[in-house]
Amino acid sequence: KKIRIAIDGPAGAGKSTIAKLAAEKLQYTYVDTGAMYRALTYKSLQQKKNLADEQALLELLMSSCIELEPSPAGQQVYLDGQNVSEAIRMPEVTANVSEVAAHAAVRKEMVDRQMKLAESGGVLMDGRDIGTHVIPDAELKLFMSASADERARRRFEDNKSRGIHIPVEELKQDILRRDKLDSEREASPLIQAEDAIFLDTTTLTIEDVVEEIVNLVKA
Ligand code: C5P
Repeated sequence: KKIRIAIDGPAGAGKSTIAKLAAEKLQYTYVDTGAMYRALTYKSLQQKKNLADEQALLELLMSSCIELEPSPAGQQVYLDGQNVSEAIRMPEVTANVSEVAAHAAVRKEMVDRQMKLAESGGVLMDGRDIGTHVIPDAELKLFMSASADERARRRFEDNKSRGIHIPVEELKQDILRRDKLDSEREASPLIQAEDAIFLDTTTLTIEDVVEEIVNLVKA
């Protein structure tokens, strides 16, 4: 039987890398919910919306088609039919996404859409509130974290592979700022679900964590 797996944790904890590989091994669908908040942020910036205007952002979201499509090259993100998979990873989007994601009305609509994506099972969903709000009855819940230094180092390597160079210390400050915004917002903050398994990935290898997840699913 194919179950639903919720993976939550702060930025740079290794969720997406690990979830992608585990999904491949399990032949599950990997769903990166952060990409949906990023797509809305990207569109808001393009249309020069005031990111503090909750109603304006909700209206924009209601008229937006955001599609997540699994592909061998990783999840592809389409915004109103246009592939924005690369564009939503740009530093300007990263720097503003937590402001957009903090609006309760935006979150409610996003969570509704994500619930539908998880309905069929055989899904590994990655985000901040999956185990607490999107799939509160998930069969398996994981909460991944790592030290801020390690998470900044991973972001640095990830950027480098995209040809982007931002100093590690700057990335660490951004990660800490985002952690704070994500954990302190009122609407579905980043928090470990009571029944989630905690995984500290600071010193674990990607392969170790993937194997642990596959074993948990098979257990
Ligand atoms: O996972 P990623 O770093 O791409 O997520 C970008 C941002 O989107 C997070 O910092 C958070 O503000 C927001 N997010 C969220 N809830 C989710 C997924 C992402 O609030 N389920």
